[in-house]
Amino acid sequence: MNHDRSRELYDRALSVLAGGVNSSVRATRPYPFFVERGDGAHVVDADGNRYVDYAMGYGPLLYGHDPPESVQSAVQRYASQGPMYGAPTEVEVEHAEFVARHVPSVEMLRFVNSGTEATVSAVRLARGYTGRDKVVVMRGGYHGAQESTLVEARGDSTDTHPSSPGIPESFADHTIAVPFNDAEAVTEVFAEHGDDIAAVLTEPILGNTAIVRPVDGFHETLRDLCDEYGSLLVFDEVITGFRVGGLQCAQGKFGVTPDLTTFGKIIGGGFPVGAVGGRAEIVEQFTPSGDVFQSGTFSGHPVTMAAGHEYLTYAAENDVYDHVNRLGEKLRSGITDIVEEQAPEYTVVGTDSMFKTVFTREAPETFEDHCEAGCEQRESCPRYDHCPKTGADVGAADTERWERVFWQEMKERGVFLTANQFEAQFVSYAHTDEDVEKTLEAYKETL
Ligand SMILES: *Cc1c(COP(=O)(O)O)cnc(C)c1O
Repeated sequence: MNHDRSRELYDRALSVLAGGVNSSVRATRPYPFFVERGDGAHVVDADGNRYVDYAMGYGPLLYGHDPPESVQSAVQRYASQGPMYGAPTEVEVEHAEFVARHVPSVEMLRFVNSGTEATVSAVRLARGYTGRDKVVVMRGGYHGAQESTLVEARGDSTDTHPSSPGIPESFADHTIAVPFNDAEAVTEVFAEHGDDIAAVLTEPILGNTAIVRPVDGFHETLRDLCDEYGSLLVFDEVITGFRVGGLQCAQGKFGVTPDLTTFGKIIGGGFPVGAVGGRAEIVEQFTPSGDVFQSGTFSGHPVTMAAGHEYLTYAAENDVYDHVNRLGEKLRSGITDIVEEQAPEYTVVGTDSMFKTVFTREAPETFEDHCEAGCEQRESCPRYDHCPKTGADVGAADTERWERVFWQEMKERGVFLTANQFEAQFVSYAHTDEDVEKTLEAYKETL
């Protein structure tokens, strides 16, 4: 494969864009390929190379690069008519009605412009509603580029520090970081600080530190503790929303009812978006009905609302989730078979249309009765003691191999995976059985 033109563009980009990119994960080694255009489940780069795309914009693109005709025509219509006004439009109401109808815990929403903005607003709302300052997050969870959740913990759950320069220590003073799946640690934290905790903020599945599913009972413990101490349970479904569990999202799949939910990615149909949804009594506390300040020039942008609404409407009326989940399972079970032969220490993770291979370091003694299509945290699986349950477990994997060797070799075979061990991968409605078979061939040669 020739990459001359991408190399040249990256060289130019490095002079005028920080690190040559506008979002850090895109700066792949030795240099990223620049995309010329999308085509179904594929992207074509600036040198004319074609890849099967499993990055899918890092989550939003449920239909790949050719969305249904209804989405395309709505986008064109709304873009040419406005595109935005600073006054309300009908399509915002329609989109909110759709989400409230399908997501069990959501009665009312506020749309914003990114997942980050959604989690920032949700944390402010939870603090405003409860009159408390502390939030509990999961180590290895990701809630975007926000000051309150960019923390790292050193040992004790309350010994948190900002994970980036530029964030005052005092932000981290209000954030408690526990290991995902550690019910005991959360219970202890509540015993000590329960009356000061505004919210527990968690992804239902760690979706940005590989894909780590909850162990049995973990979410139920969070729900019970929040009820007992009057704290809010906030599910960050920016990545799982309308991806895991279909239209009812991951909370429906797991049967847990959060007080607030943050959305992003798919809910904007490929355009910048975020949303906070939940019980009306809480969401109404946002200005102007309440006192918790929230505002945005582009919030509820008509083009985004139209794209998001047509995206979800199409999924409600067609076999979208059946298709993406079937191919997701085919990939996970196919990779599991390859791993069993070639790299028994690796763990295949994922659910629905998400998948990843974690380069864990210890093999199970047997493959008999193991999770066949991605780790389900099933205690009877022979891999149970070795499969990742926390962010730290994923961090302890052979992460360098992914970034420096594996990703590049897959790319040279025409498969575009996410650039490091931590970001999830996605199947879209545009992927075909043939794409999956070609991908499994590349895994077989590369793993
Ligand atoms: C992507 C993501 C975010 C951040 O969303 P942006 O739109 O990138 O700001 C927050 N939370 C989760 C779970 C995400 O996956």
